[in-house]
Amino acid sequence: MKALVYHGPGNRSYDEKPMPIIKESTDAIVRITKTTICGTDLHIMKGDVPAVTDGRILGHEGVGVIEQIGGNVSNFHIGEHVLISCITSCGRCASCKKGMYSHCENGGGWILGNLIDGTQAEYVRIPYADNSLYPIPAGADEEALVMLSDILPTGFECGVLNGQVKPGDTVAIIGAGPIGLATLLTAQFYSPAEVIMVDNDDNRLEVAKKFGATQVIHNDLGNAVDKIMTLTSNRGVDVAIEAVGIPATFDICQAIVAAGGHIANVGVHGKPVQLNLDKLWSQNITLTTRLVDAVTTPMLLKTVVSGKLQPNQLITHHFMLDEVMQAYNTFGDAMKEKALKVIITNGIMSNEAMQTSNIFGIAMKERVK
Ligand SMILES: [Zn+2]
Ligand SMILES: [Zn+2]
Repeated sequence: MKALVYHGPGNRSYDEKPMPIIKESTDAIVRITKTTICGTDLHIMKGDVPAVTDGRILGHEGVGVIEQIGGNVSNFHIGEHVLISCITSCGRCASCKKGMYSHCENGGGWILGNLIDGTQAEYVRIPYADNSLYPIPAGADEEALVMLSDILPTGFECGVLNGQVKPGDTVAIIGAGPIGLATLLTAQFYSPAEVIMVDNDDNRLEVAKKFGATQVIHNDLGNAVDKIMTLTSNRGVDVAIEAVGIPATFDICQAIVAAGGHIANVGVHGKPVQLNLDKLWSQNITLTTRLVDAVTTPMLLKTVVSGKLQPNQLITHHFMLDEVMQAYNTFGDAMKEKALKVIITNGIMSNEAMQTSNIFGIAMKERVK
């Protein structure tokens, strides 16, 4: 099969790889129909995630169809349409029982496209399929559901829930990339009075306005703190959500959090930050960190299927799987390309469809577009 393969920092290629096989009785093999690229994949490409080694197929998001199941998979059947969670979880260990799937003690957590081969491929092996896949209702928009593998639960759990966004709150989200925008969309479940988005990209701030931001701040002069303090009559914000993952954006959050407020970190940090306890020790604030557990995926799935949440607004580009190298170039140059999420479609047919086309004497094509 074909897949996007990491070959060390700065090196990737679209390679022929062996088909995944069932290794444990709790595994499923899923034929990918749609996948995408995450900001985390770009971090991996830069060499920021040393756990990812040469030869790894990247990708931890996607939807597909079950092609094979192990003997102990009971929730799913072959041919079923499924959403793949970026978090793999056994559902049985102490962490999973607490709903902390990201820290699954039986080899789960964020492993797809990290410690095991991922979803930017024709097929993927999903361990603990019963707890790591979600059934897709008939007629649901597949592309919108790709946003449920990672970015919507991440924005919601790490930003909105940990930040304890409440009705009437003033919320600031630092970073208007796909995760920041997913946070903006899901924050509105709780009717905050104000959502202030901060970024350096005019296009992303325009999108943020369409998605419901009440104020947008372009931080090219580094004066976002002053602007937010002016907007809030020097009170600061109830919830400051860090959605970038660098010291400068964390510093904005520390400077703008109001007394009694919350700083919710979402970004993936590669460097230490300075925590200004000399100013914050008396301010009754709460600082939270979290790796997404994806425990809210079933709830978010319902809101997407009903149309209450419309994450397909985040999709800006479409590619076929054999164009995945180009898709990386586009996503990697997001500001110039005005890219948010890219959808990558796998054109390969199922075994069943191939057999049908044989029966009817139609020239069998390995891949269809
Ligand atoms: Zn991701
Ligand atoms: Zn577990």
